[in-house]
Amino acid sequence: MTGCGLHHEVFTANLKNDEIIGHQVVVIRGTVTGGICDAGRGEVLDTETGIRRDFQLTKGNVFKVLWSLRAGTNRIRINYCTATVNFNLIYHETANQYRVQPLYIVCQGHDGHFNEESGKSNSPEEACKKIVLGLKLVQCLYAEKLLEHDQSRKTFTLIENCHIFRSKLSAEAAKKLDENALWNEFARELLNSEFGEDEKLKFVAFIGCTEYEEIADGDYSYENIKRHTKAQANLGGGGLALFGSGYLYCWPSEFDDILPYFENSKRIDLKNFLDDSNYRRTYGGCYATTIGAVCHELGHIFDLGHTEEGIMGNGFDYVNLVFTSKHLTEDLPNRIIDSTNQKDRRLTAIKRPGKFLQKYHEQKTGDSTFFTRNCAIILSLHRWINPENSLYSETDTIELSEYPLSVSCTSSHLRLIEIRDKQSNLVVDYQELGVSSAAAGELRSVNLSNRLDPSRHSLFVITSNGSSKFFA
Ligand SMILES: [Zn+2]
Ligand SMILES: [Zn+2]
Repeated sequence: MTGCGLHHEVFTANLKNDEIIGHQVVVIRGTVTGGICDAGRGEVLDTETGIRRDFQLTKGNVFKVLWSLRAGTNRIRINYCTATVNFNLIYHETANQYRVQPLYIVCQGHDGHFNEESGKSNSPEEACKKIVLGLKLVQCLYAEKLLEHDQSRKTFTLIENCHIFRSKLSAEAAKKLDENALWNEFARELLNSEFGEDEKLKFVAFIGCTEYEEIADGDYSYENIKRHTKAQANLGGGGLALFGSGYLYCWPSEFDDILPYFENSKRIDLKNFLDDSNYRRTYGGCYATTIGAVCHELGHIFDLGHTEEGIMGNGFDYVNLVFTSKHLTEDLPNRIIDSTNQKDRRLTAIKRPGKFLQKYHEQKTGDSTFFTRNCAIILSLHRWINPENSLYSETDTIELSEYPLSVSCTSSHLRLIEIRDKQSNLVVDYQELGVSSAAAGELRSVNLSNRLDPSRHSLFVITSNGSSKFFA
């Protein structure tokens, strides 16, 4: 390339040379200095395979490229006009014994085929490919969002073999159950299955027989769509995050299709396909919102409560912006909340968030998706996410005592205390401990009088070695 007269330099923002990365899908983010020029086509290149992806600089001269790593050393080159930067990324799956197992549940009397456009594969095997790819995005999102929090790239370890789980529950019975009952049924069945012995597994499961009934009156509100969807769930807690399969039609099964799917502005045929897109009504919108919902429910199985803002609030509709810098016209800034029927919203008790944090994150990272600080602290200590803490087999004893009302631990130190509303699981107050130097005694026991009202509040506590306890 001939020079344009400008002096460019390329910098990566979120990755270092020779960095060891524990997850396969990464976002390569960076900036180009020296200005945008006419010749300024950018590209990311794997110098060994020749695989390349173009990028264009967006506001602030930044770029963002979604990339799938090969096992071992990946020799990456970024070119922009006359500038080049080379670096190595080493993909080596994190050796965490605590892992996440994807499942596709096939109920009795059902063939396991999910709702899909005619001519496209909708077998259980195809569902598994979509689920694993979707979870790799979620895995990448967790790593990026925790990196923003404390400069350390951490995420959960995913078992890539999605298991087709044959349930004893009949499809007919499943369609009569609400999401709580479905969660109870499948959680119990899993406990009694070959997986039941392994305490170091958490499950992300999709129900194959989700059915979308015809809506005759043309009311395609979120609430009415939900009422007409059977064997459907969006529920995470304990060791299981459970979902329906009704959205898999807008999920890709191949890595190269991820960006085209996020950018797909095709209108959803509301009569025949389930829409959960925060009223964008597009394939891309539905893909973003439903991947966001998986991020949210997975947060619950990692012990997170609700927050007023961020992923654990209503801030999960635009996760596409974590992976691509392309803003679509239908990327509305806020989740639409129908004030006439708030009781049926997904997060009933959360008041409408102020948008301060969201705006801050938009400016800082170019996307509006984030974990609030308390959530990021829990995740970065959690055994499923923190490989060092996963090595502790002995758990700390965490106790609540009454006079005075206080919480204490025995061997490590208290790191975070959350007071949550019992009804909504909303974090109403939290305290971070051990940031500034404090006497060991203060980190072993914290007085909660005047703060914790056991009739209204529950308490969540996590220690520095990742031991945690929830006092309902
Ligand atoms: Zn140039
Ligand atoms: Zn929730």
